Amino acid sequence: MIFLKTDDEIELLRQSNLLVGKTLAEIAKVIKPGVTTKELDKVAEEFIRDNGAVPTFKGFPNPNGAPFPASICTSVNEQVVHGIPGDVVLKDGDIVSVDCGTYMNGFCGDSAYTFCVGEVAEDVRNLLKVTKEALYIGIQNAVQGKRLGDIGYAIQQHCESNSYGVVREFVGHGIGKDMHEDPQVPNYGKRGYGTLLKKGLCIAIEPMITLGNRQIVMEQDGWTVRTKDRKCAAHFEHTIAVGAAGADILSSFDFVEEVLGDKAI
Ligand code: MG
Ligand code: MG
Repeated sequence: MIFLKTDDEIELLRQSNLLVGKTLAEIAKVIKPGVTTKELDKVAEEFIRDNGAVPTFKGFPNPNGAPFPASICTSVNEQVVHGIPGDVVLKDGDIVSVDCGTYMNGFCGDSAYTFCVGEVAEDVRNLLKVTKEALYIGIQNAVQGKRLGDIGYAIQQHCESNSYGVVREFVGHGIGKDMHEDPQVPNYGKRGYGTLLKKGLCIAIEPMITLGNRQIVMEQDGWTVRTKDRKCAAHFEHTIAVGAAGADILSSFDFVEEVLGDKAI
């Protein structure tokens, strides 16, 4: 069931999502060669709780195993999504996708950004650039009167025209009082097909794009998703509200990119 949000609810969603953006910026400040993903998680959890919110991911149930043990997902290189922070030491040339969720004032925030660690190879940087572009191209289609397939089609076209793989097994989602609400928001689709977009529909759009082919496998931990060919993957996510004239982006990369400066993708 799809819950359309009122303007007041959208403002609450914005507050939660801006906190996610600020949390990602705190993480951006400490990402460098030598840092562990567990340290990034600690920074995130403290910042979220200090701001009166709860990290939504912590304890998130897994139908096939243990609940998620951390406050953020950290997916390094060939890991696509849902990587568990741990003792992995980030090294020069790595990329790390950080996905963050907050719960505040009854509403959820959800946004993700893929960071470079030190100097990253040009082909991998381009994967990040195109994935982020695809996110914004998808958002441009999140307008009242269009359909969900228009968003997926736009993302898929942009990525596949750059010869990248579009992961299909994991998708974006409606968001509100729950982190995952209806509808599902695939990163592929057909123009003019799928759910009609109405003002007040709030969704997380999150392309997961691979340098090689789009096949993925699940690691033994029951959470971490990686590419089968072990080539790199990127993940950028915004929470948005569909509007009559365009989408209202409720999360923000501004805080992150202020920290990254001219190193931003
Ligand atoms: Mg997310
Ligand atoms: Mg999401």
